[in-house]
Amino acid sequence: MTNIAFIGLGNMGGPMAANLVKAGHAVTGFDLSPASCDQARSDGVSIAGSAPDAVRDAEVVITMLPAGKHVLSVWTDILPSIKEGALVVDCSTIDVESARKAHVMAREQERNLMSLDAPVSGGVGGAKGATLTFMAGGTKEAFDCAEPILSKMGRRVVHCGEAGAGQAAKICNNMILGISMIGVAEAFVLGEKLGLSHQALFDVASTSSGMCWALMNHCPVPDLVPTSAANNGYRPGFAAALMLKDLKLAQEAALASGASTPLGAEAAQLFGLFAGAGHEGDDYSGIINFLRGQKG
Ligand code: NAD
Repeated sequence: MTNIAFIGLGNMGGPMAANLVKAGHAVTGFDLSPASCDQARSDGVSIAGSAPDAVRDAEVVITMLPAGKHVLSVWTDILPSIKEGALVVDCSTIDVESARKAHVMAREQERNLMSLDAPVSGGVGGAKGATLTFMAGGTKEAFDCAEPILSKMGRRVVHCGEAGAGQAAKICNNMILGISMIGVAEAFVLGEKLGLSHQALFDVASTSSGMCWALMNHCPVPDLVPTSAANNGYRPGFAAALMLKDLKLAQEAALASGASTPLGAEAAQLFGLFAGAGHEGDDYSGIINFLRGQKG
């Protein structure tokens, strides 16, 4: 049993912390939202009065927060209270620059703290079912220490490289997903105009060179793939707002690093228009409806 502190008990952090309790760990949590704290308490998490109080006895501290500014602010608050030699893991999806800064802040404590950026893929379903994929950045020592804990919340834990490499892998992966979903949706919209049935296009593309993860798992038209949000009126799933967040992070990183990502930029713009038209809470595959409404 490990003493674990968990800060950020929202849609993702709540079920992740609950899975650590189920695995036999002692989990102390904190969240600004009383409702999230109540839910976590009912899942067996001890709720502390503040984030620094939550981390005091922990060997492993995990944060799961909305964005980079929240992570840097919470880490500033908690790092001085964390035990010498403990491991701090941020599982939020944040910009690479803030992730690297968080590692530096941990090192600057000069108390042998280990740190890891370890964002996840798999959504709320993966958090509940402990089937997430973790993409980790940090030293091998930090990764080896985190792996047995993270594997209680996920199916795959991949060491991507040094500080920030987990966030880099996450935004690159999700840029592929955003671009490929638009490609799949455009193909169905064009097929419709050409009188092609959804079934015929799926039967061909799913066994031909057009096959991709977005088509096979999140097909944007209903009744072809059981895991598709299109079967449920585009209820997420993976909300368009989160796809937009990840595409914007990819664009920030592209700008900062000088990478050319024209399709990533276009995808960010299209998801921005889709989300801005009142669909930020829809599944990202609903972008097909937005494309249908555009004039060619
Ligand atoms: P959420 O908004 O449900 O949860 C975030 C929680 O952080 C909230 O409960 C909020 O009260 C808490 N919080 C904010 N500031 C705090 C502070 N200073 N101290 C303590 N608690 C604080 O968001 P989520 O869906 O759980 O996502 C968390 C992270 O995971 C985000 O970075 C998101 O991009 C990423 N992510 C989400 C999904 C998904 O499908 N929801 C999938 C992959 C990755």
